[in-house]
Amino acid sequence: MNSSLLNWCKEHSVELDSRLLLLTDRVLSNDYILKSTPIAKVPKDALLTIRNSSMHQQLSQLNQSRVVLLSFALAFEIHRGERSTWLSYIESLPKEAPDIASLWLPTPEMDGMELAKELDSLCNTKEGIRGRHSRAQLEDIFHTSLAPLADGISFNDYLYAYAITSSRLFTIDNYHDVGLVPVADLFNHTEESTVEFESDTLVCGCCGNLSHSQTNDKQTVDIVTTETIEPHQELFNSYGDTLSNVQLAMDYGFTLDANEFDRVRFDGDAIAFQWEFNDSDQELFVNDCNLYIDSEARVSLGLFGVTDIAIIDHIVMAYEQSSKVAEKPLREYIQCLIDKIDARLKEYPMHVNITNAMLVQMRQDEIGLLETSKRRFKDLL
Ligand SMILES: [Zn+2]
Repeated sequence: MNSSLLNWCKEHSVELDSRLLLLTDRVLSNDYILKSTPIAKVPKDALLTIRNSSMHQQLSQLNQSRVVLLSFALAFEIHRGERSTWLSYIESLPKEAPDIASLWLPTPEMDGMELAKELDSLCNTKEGIRGRHSRAQLEDIFHTSLAPLADGISFNDYLYAYAITSSRLFTIDNYHDVGLVPVADLFNHTEESTVEFESDTLVCGCCGNLSHSQTNDKQTVDIVTTETIEPHQELFNSYGDTLSNVQLAMDYGFTLDANEFDRVRFDGDAIAFQWEFNDSDQELFVNDCNLYIDSEARVSLGLFGVTDIAIIDHIVMAYEQSSKVAEKPLREYIQCLIDKIDARLKEYPMHVNITNAMLVQMRQDEIGLLETSKRRFKDLL
């Protein structure tokens, strides 16, 4: 059991369902819990947000992203030790921060990989993208804006707080903005979650109340089951609806074994055209004007680049009947696609010596999708 976290819950009047087992890295249930049950209610005034932090005054003066500021608020509370109201929560956090890929440097071994493309675009912006920052950007921000605020916090202390914050951040409401939510941040991620996070997000921007007519309006963020839970089952949240392994690695420091939102993208512009294409139950194409191969090794129509839906239907039919495509122009379209896939495959260096398990998996998955797709189309020639 996660006794530090349970202590923190007691100190801050968190309502916890007694059937929950809070471990150090996951949440289990020891009984049946019906669908739509609120299993935890955490008071908003207990969350670690910039508003609630002891550094609120100083941080609100800084023109930095909310992840940067909230991470510093956490680093500061860690630094305060016994004097922090989040001490027990901080003690419940992993001693080792998650290895979030947004802090990695792109290396030649990552060439071709979706992750490398994401890291390149991150490192080439000054401020970071979508709330993410590269290590170099953080180092710069830390030494110029943050370090003068508190002595004794090192850049490494800050990086730990940043990785924790990146992987545990929730959107609370328009008063608090984002924050760390003890208990809620303990649920692991799956595509098909069994709990969800609920918060009234539209509140008064000045005081955080839902309305001014009611006094004593004690607001909470709630965790509610979305399925009936069975005894000994792990409870899962979803960190986002369409997160690919690259995004999970960047923000959270882990990947899923199979991720339906993975894509291998190709350079080039999406083509704008309208089509009537029924894409269920076939393995060749996905109905999208962007250029990529999806997690089922299907080619987007944008990548195939053919606007005539009769041609697409003809190719799909040939594939399903395991026959060949005889018409010369159609064979040329297919060969052109195979050439694009071959060129994309060449972006990955042949011999690499990667030991990082996340990198190994992402690289193998991407090359596997490209090769599967190529084989399906080659069978038509
Ligand atoms: Zn107000």
